[in-house]
Amino acid sequence: MKVFYRPEQVATSDLPSPSALKPKLVVADWLADPGINAEICSFEPADTKTLCLAHDAAYVRGIFSGRCENGFGNTNTDVALSLPFTTGSMVAAAQHAVLHHEVVCSPTSGFHHAEYADAMGYCTFNGLMVAALALKHAGLVDYVGIIDCDAHYGNGTDHIIKKLNINWIEHLTMGKHFSGSDDAQGGRFEAWLDQAIDHCRDCDLVLYQAGADPHIDDPLGGILSTEQMSWRDRRVFEQLGHLPLVWNLAGGYQVTGGDTEAQRREPILALHRETARLHAAIFG
Ligand SMILES: [Zn+2]
Repeated sequence: MKVFYRPEQVATSDLPSPSALKPKLVVADWLADPGINAEICSFEPADTKTLCLAHDAAYVRGIFSGRCENGFGNTNTDVALSLPFTTGSMVAAAQHAVLHHEVVCSPTSGFHHAEYADAMGYCTFNGLMVAALALKHAGLVDYVGIIDCDAHYGNGTDHIIKKLNINWIEHLTMGKHFSGSDDAQGGRFEAWLDQAIDHCRDCDLVLYQAGADPHIDDPLGGILSTEQMSWRDRRVFEQLGHLPLVWNLAGGYQVTGGDTEAQRREPILALHRETARLHAAIFG
C-alpha cells in the first residue's frame, strides 16, 4: 500500500482537533502492522500557484503571512508550514493513482470545510479540490468523483465547485444526508453509498474520504455501526477499485484512556487500521 507521507505534514502545536497529528500516528501504526504492507512515498509540497487553483490568491497569501486565520482559528506558523504538505500529499497521491492506475493512500485530513477564501472547521485549504483541479489542468483527468464519507457536510467542496462553475466533478457527501444513527438505519446508508458509487463509475479519478468520525461512538459523528464502517470501505474498494482512487483519513474524534497519544487515539487508529488492512488484502 503506497502512502504519500512526509513528517512535515504534521502540525505539532496544541490544536483543538487531533487530526493534525493523525498522519504521524497512523503511519507508525501501519508500519508496525504485518497485515499492512505500507510503502512510504515522498512528494513535493503544493506550491502557491497550485493552491490558488482552488483558492483566492489573497487568502492563500494571508494564510502564509499570518494575516488570515487558519481552520483552527489561529495564525500558528507551524500550521501554515504544514499545509503545503497535507495538500501536496493529496495532489501527489492523485497523480500517482492516475499515472499508474492504482489505489493509493494519502494520510490526510482537514480539507472539506475549506471554502474558496475562508477557513473553517479545522480546514484551511481544500486539498480535495486542489488535487482535482491540479490534475484537470495537467490534462490527466476529465471527470473526477469525490465520495466524502466524513460524518460532516463537505460545504467547502460544494462552495468551490459553485464558485468556479465546475461541471466535471461528482461530489457526494454523506454529511448532507445523515446526522445521526436513525438516519442511516433500514438500509438507508447502504442505498446512499451505492448511489454515490454509481455516480463515479465513469470517473478518471475517485477521491474517497474514509472518515473515522461517522462511527457510532464518535462524539462528533455517531452515525454508522462498526459493521457498517467496514462494509462502507469494502464496498467502495470492491466497486471502484478498478479506477485510479485515493483514500484519505478525514475526521475522527474518539478518545480513550492511556499514557501516550497513540493509546488515547486507539479507537481512531483501529478504524483507519481496518481500512488499511482491507486495502492491503484487496490491492496488496
Ligand atoms: Zn468530520
